[in-house]
Amino acid sequence: MACNVAKFLWPRFSGNRSLLCQFCVRSNFNGHHKRSYSSDSDSTCDVTVVGGGIVGLASARELSLRRPDLSITVLEKEKEISMHQTGHNSGVIHAGIYYKPGSLKAKLCVEGLDLLYKYCDEQHVPYKRVGKLIVAVDKEELGRLDDLYKRALKNGCTVSMVEGKDIKQIEPHCKGLKAIHSPLTGIVDYSVVTQAYGKEFQARGGNIQTNFCVNKFSENTSSSHPVSTHSEHGSNIVNSRYVIVCGGLYSDRLAAISGAESLPKIVPFRGDYLVLKPEKTHLVNGNIYPVPDPRFPFLGVHFTPRMNGDIWLGPNAILAFKREGYNFTDFNLKDLSEALMFSGLRKLVFRNLTAGFDELYRVMNKNAQLGKLQRFIPNLTINDVTRGPSGVRAQALDADGNLVDDFIFDSGKGSIGKRMLHVRNAPSPAATSSLAIAKMIADEVENRFQL
Ligand SMILES: Cc1cc2nc3c(=O)[nH]c(=O)nc-3n(C[C@H](O)[C@H](O)[C@H](O)COP(=O)(O)OP(=O)(O)OC[C@H]3O[C@@H](n4cnc5c(N)ncnc54)[C@H](O)[C@@H]3O)c2cc1C
Repeated sequence: MACNVAKFLWPRFSGNRSLLCQFCVRSNFNGHHKRSYSSDSDSTCDVTVVGGGIVGLASARELSLRRPDLSITVLEKEKEISMHQTGHNSGVIHAGIYYKPGSLKAKLCVEGLDLLYKYCDEQHVPYKRVGKLIVAVDKEELGRLDDLYKRALKNGCTVSMVEGKDIKQIEPHCKGLKAIHSPLTGIVDYSVVTQAYGKEFQARGGNIQTNFCVNKFSENTSSSHPVSTHSEHGSNIVNSRYVIVCGGLYSDRLAAISGAESLPKIVPFRGDYLVLKPEKTHLVNGNIYPVPDPRFPFLGVHFTPRMNGDIWLGPNAILAFKREGYNFTDFNLKDLSEALMFSGLRKLVFRNLTAGFDELYRVMNKNAQLGKLQRFIPNLTINDVTRGPSGVRAQALDADGNLVDDFIFDSGKGSIGKRMLHVRNAPSPAATSSLAIAKMIADEVENRFQL
């Protein structure tokens, strides 16, 4: 949905469909304007959920299951649900291997994996339990592989260690010194999962309103439904008792317009995939991942089978010049300048200059990207791959440029702040964990709001 004010301010970049209306954001930053309660275009519900990605829909579904007495509306700015991170990811059902023991990520991923498989079985959502190898190809990776194995066991994952000579029994074309095998790792199309959540939610009376770009929250004069959520043109308003915000790449801006802290800040990182040509898909059976570099938040370029039989290779990680910008040339002045003005990002970039340039080089040069992949499948050639799709990750950063690793929840400030819950950081494996995250959000909503 285009924003006319944004078009007026930056006519050259008016193709930006999903830009928040910058003028409105600024003018309402601290202004929780009181407005009269009723208007022709107003609608009313108990709980408004902003964001029609997998986290928003899973939360709406969970609340509607627990509390059939509540009326719930999901507001999504795009014309369909799951058009951003949820519809642009690797599609891996993670087993919970990587995450710090005791963290929310570890707990919710392990729990979410079981819930997701059960859900897919019950709702006939197709998935494949193709398994995964995390492969050490250099001697210096062996120590980290062992540490990862111990961590996986602590997290309660089903894993085994595979010696180099046995790797070929699982992945005949893969080479390595040693690997962790995770038989329960799977793949699924998270857009299909989200559609299923949405259908169930609607079947229970839930309402999904698309083409509704939220740009303001305000307090109205109603004692029963005092929080107004406004669309960007001001033509639509939903009045509710409580609001849950699951805004993905815009979670920081949505939090800020409700009076919450501006930190953590979201910095968009684009990841591009290569795709194996159909005649070469026999080279890969399941997921093949590198041993992650602990300095970076992402898991490293990997081989991932897709539900349609394709094999994706990637994604890399490079600062995107536009939130929700899926092409190298996509650019948004506000997004880029905000990222560059943020001292946290500058500190992060300064600390990782070499790695950053390395990533940039590999984005431009398919051969360099291929080199990373040939470490695992030496037979791979440049003629076996084509350029594929991209995704943009919402990476939360603190003021010192530290990557915020775990899931984070927050509230707004002032009189409506206590009626709002913001999901400020829901990075990978949030799609895998969506049903477990939704349970936690529903618990939090019931406790905080005394529902
Ligand atoms: C490249 C990549 C690979 C990944 N791989 C995996 C993986 O293999 N496995 C895994 O578990 N996870 C993976 N992830 C992570 C996973 O995709 C995300 O954690 C998850 O999709 C987050 O869901 P979400 O609902 O929070 O965000 P999103 O899907 O981004 O949804 C947020 C929604 O909010 C809407 N919105 C934003 N602003 C407004 C507004 N002002 N008004 C109304 N609506 C608004 C957006 O349009 C969007 O639909 C990956 C992510 C990426 C980018």
